Amino acid sequence: MLRSVILAAARSHRVERIVETAPVSRSIVRRFIAGEHAQDALQRTRELVAAGLAVTIDHLGEDTTNPQQAEATRDEYLRLLDALHAAELTPAAEVSLKLSALGQVFDEKLAYEHAHAICAKASEAGTTVTLDAEDHTTTDSTLEVLGRLRADFPTTGAVLQSYLRRTEADCRELAVSGSRVRLCKGAYKEPESVAYQSRLDVDKSYVRCLNVLMSGAGYPMLATHDPRLVAIGEDRAKWFDRNPDEFEFQMLYGVRPDEQLRLAQLGYTVRVYLPYGTQWYAYMMRRLAERPANLGFLARAVTSRG
Ligand SMILES: Cc1cc2nc3c(=O)[nH]c(=O)nc-3n(C[C@H](O)[C@H](O)[C@H](O)COP(=O)(O)OP(=O)(O)OC[C@H]3O[C@@H](n4cnc5c(N)ncnc54)[C@H](O)[C@@H]3O)c2cc1C
Repeated sequence: MLRSVILAAARSHRVERIVETAPVSRSIVRRFIAGEHAQDALQRTRELVAAGLAVTIDHLGEDTTNPQQAEATRDEYLRLLDALHAAELTPAAEVSLKLSALGQVFDEKLAYEHAHAICAKASEAGTTVTLDAEDHTTTDSTLEVLGRLRADFPTTGAVLQSYLRRTEADCRELAVSGSRVRLCKGAYKEPESVAYQSRLDVDKSYVRCLNVLMSGAGYPMLATHDPRLVAIGEDRAKWFDRNPDEFEFQMLYGVRPDEQLRLAQLGYTVRVYLPYGTQWYAYMMRRLAERPANLGFLARAVTSRG
């Protein structure tokens, strides 16, 4: 219930204006986001890599509504990849991309072309791209674009969300040689017709999907902070005889940092999802929906503005 209210607020421009300008927002944003500029992301990446972690960088922004914005997003990624390469932070750092930020909603062909240019630059820079998963209305289009990108750039990664009823079947399709698949629970508000609603059902689906990916021929990327699912991931790695370099764990910047280091010290690859940019509102609201304990922040933001 609370999760639904927060996720609805994530789409409200009125709440967005209040939260973005509230003084209390700064400190919480700093915890989850590298900063506003690519230089901030580069600096955080250096620190994370020095600590033995891998990174995937996300330039914040989604639901782009015009071609100029889509082009600006593409150009930002191209500059970021040049900078990562120049700083010798590839291949430890890759990038995560939302097709909606490249215009998917109004022009799928344009989004594909921009994504293709970003994948080409990533390949030149010695790294790769993962396409984030957004709400379920975009899943078919995203997987279709992924298939086309993978024809030219086979390491392009997919993201599948265990709350979607279709995902176990998608895992079977994608658990093939050379295929990188990030498995997460899913962060959007979805109807019962397409998505499991209870935590238990989402978690059970995660385990089924994890089994498919870990027993398949691809490269699973287990994106979760859930201690039970991390333990199941470790167990399946032993069961299916996967070496630490044949799968990875992924977690969000600012969430369970001690656990990220603990797993890295055990010899696992742990990749930190590191967002930067000014459009942090929707991303932050999804983080709050996952952890209502952080909600005091939102309440203070709203009440401090009267
Ligand atoms: C690397 C990565 C990439 C992702 N990419 C996508 C994507 O492309 N599309 C998408 O829909 N979703 C994405 N997600 C989000 C994901 O779908 C979940 O919403 C999110 O990871 C929370 O689920 P969980 O598996 O951590 O389990 P939960 O059951 O939500 O959390 C388990 C435990 O982790 C800790 N925790 C979890 N979230 C937080 C938080 N925000 N603040 C503090 N502690 C927390 C708490 O201790 C909690 O008890 C991504 C997540 C990660 C880690």
